[in-house]
Amino acid sequence: MTIIECKNVGKVYRRGVEAICDLSFTIEEGEFVYLLGASGSGKSTLLKTLYRDEAISSGTVMIDERDISKIKVRDLHKLRRDIGIIFQEYHLLPKKTVYENVRFALEILAFPEEEMDARIRQTLTLVELADKADCYPEELSGGQQQRVAIARALINEPRILLADEPTGNLDPRASMEIFRLLMRINRRGTTVLLATHDQHIFQRFHFRSLTMSGGQLVADESKKAVGSLQYDYKKKDFYIV
Ligand code: ADP
Ligand code: MG
Repeated sequence: MTIIECKNVGKVYRRGVEAICDLSFTIEEGEFVYLLGASGSGKSTLLKTLYRDEAISSGTVMIDERDISKIKVRDLHKLRRDIGIIFQEYHLLPKKTVYENVRFALEILAFPEEEMDARIRQTLTLVELADKADCYPEELSGGQQQRVAIARALINEPRILLADEPTGNLDPRASMEIFRLLMRINRRGTTVLLATHDQHIFQRFHFRSLTMSGGQLVADESKKAVGSLQYDYKKKDFYIV
């Protein structure tokens, strides 16, 4: 099933900056897709248009067969419930613990109070931070803080995860951990669109990639045949053969 469909999408910012132009592609539910391209090529703008943080100037964006330009402002939360987002910066609340940061996301969503604790614990376990629940962000490494941000983005079990250069501030080792986590999340059925510059990652793990340049889509390459990704059920991790 197609979960994201962009048809001739354009975005012109105020003062006439054309950030994306005539983009057309589709993403199927459950895919893992890289969004590649130099700085300024329009990656962040594209991600922002998908959850309607920025309105598009032309074309159509369909998420789960809904034309998102037609969603009324008061119904936008329904679209955003389906989409989790993470960024290069972690945007955690410094005076709240890991547990409270994640809980806060559920409070905003008016999630049933009695189910909150179980959901938070389950999500912290997924990102391997169950033992850090009572820590404050400043007590965590960058990679751990990003994992809290991922837990927060996933707390409502969204169908799509948009990741805007989430490893941009991390060293190669922490980046790889975040990337493996994104693969595990994808493996559970979540569609992942990952904007990245990180060559360690996209050269090693081959998934479909959309490449942007100057606001346009210049390549849409399917998984390359070099090596294939296998899942080790015992180790619960991926390896390449
Ligand atoms: P990337 O994420 O690939 O680095 P962006 O989507 O951030 O690219 O930016 C694409 C283009 O749009 C750039 O030329 C950038 O300067 C411009 N741009 C981004 N955000 C805004 C904004 N809020 N107002 C005006 N121009 C913007
Ligand atoms: Mg960007």
